[in-house]
Amino acid sequence: MRLSRSAPLAVAASLLAAAPAALAQSSAGAPQPAADLIVTNARIYTADDSRPLVEAFAVRGNRIVFTGSAREAATLKGAATRVVDAGGRTVIPGMVDAHAHFAGLAQTLRAVDLVGTKSVTEVIARVQAKAATLPKGTWITGRGWDQNAWGDTRFPTHDALSAAVPDHPVLLTRVDGHANFVNAAAMKLAGVTAATKDPSGGKIQRDANGAPTGVFIDNAQRLVGSKVPELTRDEMRAALKDAIARMHSLGLVGMHDAGASRANIELFEDMAQKRELDLRLYVMIGDNAEALKHYFQVGPRSALYDGQVWVRAVKLYADGAMGSRGAALLEPYSDDPNNTGLLLSAPSHIEEVARQGLAAGFQINTHAIGDRGNRVVLDAYDKALAATPRADHRFRVEHAQILHQDDIPRFAQMGVIPSMQASHQTSDMYWIGKRLGPTRLYGAYAWQSLLQTGVIIPNGSDFPVEAVNPLISFHASIARQDARDWPAGGWYPEQKMSREDALRSMTLWAAYAGFQEKELGSITPGKYADFVVLDQDIMRVPAELVLQTRVLSTWVGGRRVYEAPAR
Ligand SMILES: [Zn+2]
Repeated sequence: MRLSRSAPLAVAASLLAAAPAALAQSSAGAPQPAADLIVTNARIYTADDSRPLVEAFAVRGNRIVFTGSAREAATLKGAATRVVDAGGRTVIPGMVDAHAHFAGLAQTLRAVDLVGTKSVTEVIARVQAKAATLPKGTWITGRGWDQNAWGDTRFPTHDALSAAVPDHPVLLTRVDGHANFVNAAAMKLAGVTAATKDPSGGKIQRDANGAPTGVFIDNAQRLVGSKVPELTRDEMRAALKDAIARMHSLGLVGMHDAGASRANIELFEDMAQKRELDLRLYVMIGDNAEALKHYFQVGPRSALYDGQVWVRAVKLYADGAMGSRGAALLEPYSDDPNNTGLLLSAPSHIEEVARQGLAAGFQINTHAIGDRGNRVVLDAYDKALAATPRADHRFRVEHAQILHQDDIPRFAQMGVIPSMQASHQTSDMYWIGKRLGPTRLYGAYAWQSLLQTGVIIPNGSDFPVEAVNPLISFHASIARQDARDWPAGGWYPEQKMSREDALRSMTLWAAYAGFQEKELGSITPGKYADFVVLDQDIMRVPAELVLQTRVLSTWVGGRRVYEAPAR
């Protein structure tokens, strides 16, 4: 089992130990209780190196009890066994997004989708349609407008929006999240007038008389944004159910939530108890002193509610993002020579929380994008581990986007996991060269350089920042090309992953990064029966066809949670 290629992360022995000898029992001829479910006549990529490709598997209760040939599986068929003949289709383990935002997706699904709008008139029409369904006074949020796609690239002004939607406060976030466009009702509620000053790090767009015209940039977004009420618990529960349905429809059976509040974690647990979750949800607790104190006292908890919720990790932030030049760099931005970015947390804070985490048995996962951000995190982890050693800590760096060559081997040496999102590479490649210049790009999204040091790379999307579909990251991992197959041959193609590694990155390696590899991540006897049926073989079709793949069905614990509509 090549889960990892180096001693620091070696877990092969524990993985083998987790697999009961179902096959041995059946070939010894001992009577076997009948399976509840048999999936057969399929190309099943198990992500289990001991049997990587099989044609059938059997499930009893919510766990896999057998993998192998269709003939052997048939011997486990009883009167009540459900048999799924996959008709030669491809089956893979249920996919897990190792870095995403559960509540963020829920909120985004409730907002008006403005992606792809071609004019401000179209934006207003979509908001108006939403307003017609909501009582007056209810806030309407939206996301995804981009005035660069409207012909006239100047920022919009609020007059037409305010006239069309006078009775609902409206806040529409720009596609990159760095500006919002609001109506008069929203500005009135927020008390924003010509007298309101620009906050530091922010800008209010104004007319000739100084009156706000409805667009608020960067830190000025909070002037109105802070007035948007949080969803009630019932609204959030309903929105989370929509988010779960979206994930299931795309072949995701689990996710790692990169920073959740205590209130949301309690809601997730309540949903799991009521069997409303149907997810393998690995929670990272957001960096909040009270929440951390509480959960460190409670201690790490795993596989709660029959393998639905894990609370044993913390999310910290080292630096900002590349698009807004907030990622912390060792040398200045190539397109901004006086700027080396921002550290969002003091290095001493990361070290201190890491020490507390080690003492309490929690994993620490820190956001780091720039090469300085990454070095700061590795240094802080180093100090914490020296002070409070723990063998199997599995600390992570979230994103690990830009690495100095000297830091690439440190992940394997320290047993730190780079948790990366392949779709960020294909989203950023158009402009990142301007920010960094050519030399630093050799350490950018450097998957192969990292893999060759012996680490594993759990993959993810960072939704709702990127699209939910995990095959976008699978495709980016193997091609380093966008959906239009640009650039030819791939962007820094020497860093591509093999398909086998790309599949592991969204199944077994994601599970390992969440201490879940004994329960999920591969189609292996003893693990939960989480799997996905696809309409084509993503391990064999040309890379340019991968994004046309349809998920036919998604199964969690042997239960079908999604079936594609017939067509
Ligand atoms: Zn994130």
